[in-house]
Amino acid sequence: MLILDCDGVVVDSEPITIRVLTEMLNQLGVRIDAEEAAHRFTGHTFARTLDLIVAMLGAPLPQNFVSEYRTRTYAAMELELKPVEGIAGALDSIRVPYCIASNGPHEKMRKTLTITSLLSRFEGRMFSSADVSRGKPFPDLFLFAARHLDVSAAACLVIEDSASGIAAALAAGMLVYGYAGSEAEERLLAAGAHGILRHMSELPALVTGDH
Ligand SMILES: [Mg+2]
Repeated sequence: MLILDCDGVVVDSEPITIRVLTEMLNQLGVRIDAEEAAHRFTGHTFARTLDLIVAMLGAPLPQNFVSEYRTRTYAAMELELKPVEGIAGALDSIRVPYCIASNGPHEKMRKTLTITSLLSRFEGRMFSSADVSRGKPFPDLFLFAARHLDVSAAACLVIEDSASGIAAALAAGMLVYGYAGSEAEERLLAAGAHGILRHMSELPALVTGDH
């Protein structure tokens, strides 16, 4: 079975969320650019991201921070969000079952997949860190998805674009490839990725074997 991360692997949401987060941090007086923000925040649960921001601020978050972040990111996504290049065509030619496992909430997954017209492909096969007690980098979410779909961990191939997701897949005992979208490919290999995808057109060839 193929397990896909959502943000940065199926939908090209990371540039939007990182841009909004960077703008909001700059407004709070934190000097950070989008590249640094992507490095620090990509692949975490939102709760973990908020913890990191509080540590950077050295003060509690403004009360409306989370609601403003959601409002701004969703508004930008409605206008700008695209599928990751080549993902629809790749999924069309894949003959093994596939699912999504995201650190993001179900609401966000449904929204981003709806905007990009990909939702019907994943209906009933979407898993969120909200479904388990620990999100990535822990293995719980991937193991939950495999168990739910009745496949062994050894029969799963995971595609991830963050070091946190790669760590989770390795901890779950799964084969994992890095998609070199938002993070440099060296960082994904250093995190333990077994290989790198540079374009989604390479994906069908990867899943014709035991996965
Ligand atoms: Mg991701």
